[in-house]
Amino acid sequence: MSKKEEQKIVKCSFCGREGNEVGSMIAGPDVYICDICIASSVDILKNNLAAYSGGKNKENKSQTPELIKKQLDEHVIGQERAKKVLSVAVYNHYKRINSHSSFFELDDVEIDKSNIMLIGPTGVGKTLLAQTLARILDVPFAIADATTLTEAGYVGDDVETVLVHLLQAADYNLDRAQKGIIYIDEIDKIARKSESTSITRDVSGEGVQQALLKILEGTIAGVPPKGGRKHPEQSLINLNTKNILFVLGGAFAGIDKIIAARINKNKMGFARDIKENQKDEEMLQFIQPEDLLKYGLIPELIGRIPVVAPLHSLNDEAMKNILTEPKNAIVKQYKKLFLMEGVDLEFDPFSLDEIVKLAMVKKTGARALRSIVEDIMLDIMYDLPDKKDVGKCIIIKDVIVKRSEPIYLKKEKKSA
Ligand code: ADP
Repeated sequence: MSKKEEQKIVKCSFCGREGNEVGSMIAGPDVYICDICIASSVDILKNNLAAYSGGKNKENKSQTPELIKKQLDEHVIGQERAKKVLSVAVYNHYKRINSHSSFFELDDVEIDKSNIMLIGPTGVGKTLLAQTLARILDVPFAIADATTLTEAGYVGDDVETVLVHLLQAADYNLDRAQKGIIYIDEIDKIARKSESTSITRDVSGEGVQQALLKILEGTIAGVPPKGGRKHPEQSLINLNTKNILFVLGGAFAGIDKIIAARINKNKMGFARDIKENQKDEEMLQFIQPEDLLKYGLIPELIGRIPVVAPLHSLNDEAMKNILTEPKNAIVKQYKKLFLMEGVDLEFDPFSLDEIVKLAMVKKTGARALRSIVEDIMLDIMYDLPDKKDVGKCIIIKDVIVKRSEPIYLKKEKKSA
């Protein structure tokens, strides 16, 4: 028997993989262990060591839903319900992961995942929420756009490329990648088209949903170590998606009508909670999984997303707060830039109102704020280094509306 054939019949005593499924297999007296299990063992020992020596691991027990929400508050304005729902879901998710050893990938204990769906218009903080969560928990984070994903074998990025990005974000640390967060945007765009529309996207949308389902529910995916496309002779890294938290996002335009229709049909139910002329957006709070089904998501996928959190659109006040309040608010960033030139920058409140007005017209949520401010500040920043005697710059309403000069105040002369 050749060496290769011999390897084929041995099985890892820990995970059951056969010799030809793994890179190498180490034999003991009547036992075998494969390289994947060895790598997992090393990770476990490292984690235990870190826990034992009090190593600072942000995913540890010191996080509570309340603490997670407080940290989200520092970056995300409004969206109170979504923040609360996320804090609890994420807390539970990492509690589950940490209470189980990641060793027996094929053991009997099924960890239910709390994958999350964020529903709301564009530019209201869906991506920001997922990204901030990852930062708070100190786990790697990757973003994908569902519309660019295809089933394996079709032109485009197949779903597993998302995992490659996560692995890259984790600096190729497999253990970290396996506990990361993946945000998949525009999930509503891969909905199966309903009876009313007859577009041929139908099939591909469902195929991508099926492919997503696989990684969402937990699979061991072979990922090319340095990205790029898979090719046969390349050795692949086995990445287990079981503990990866998936946050899906989408606008689901028109889903309010589906919700309303369902509720009207069951008027006996909680229709009394719904006022006449209730704003479309407010219907979102009544969303049920069956509405997503009607919208065109496949039931298996819906079954894997137990948490659905609606986000609201941002009103003027929220937009104004976004300009000034978050930890890295745009206004704060510009103040810092100006301070580096020795200039105190101030935005008069009326100027902020005008910026918000301009942004509201664009209907892209808070996304418009940055480009508007950048556009306004460009000329001012261009001239600033030459204005050696300026100590303070005040942006007033007319700077926004008429593009007039800001108010410049001279540096106070140091008394001799
Ligand atoms: P989407 O809901 O489309 O995923 P994003 O989260 O990408 O929107 O938001 C776009 C940008 O707008 C963010 O980078 C952030 O600066 C800002 N933003 C949006 N919503 C909020 C919010 N609720 N609080 C603070 N900033 C926000």
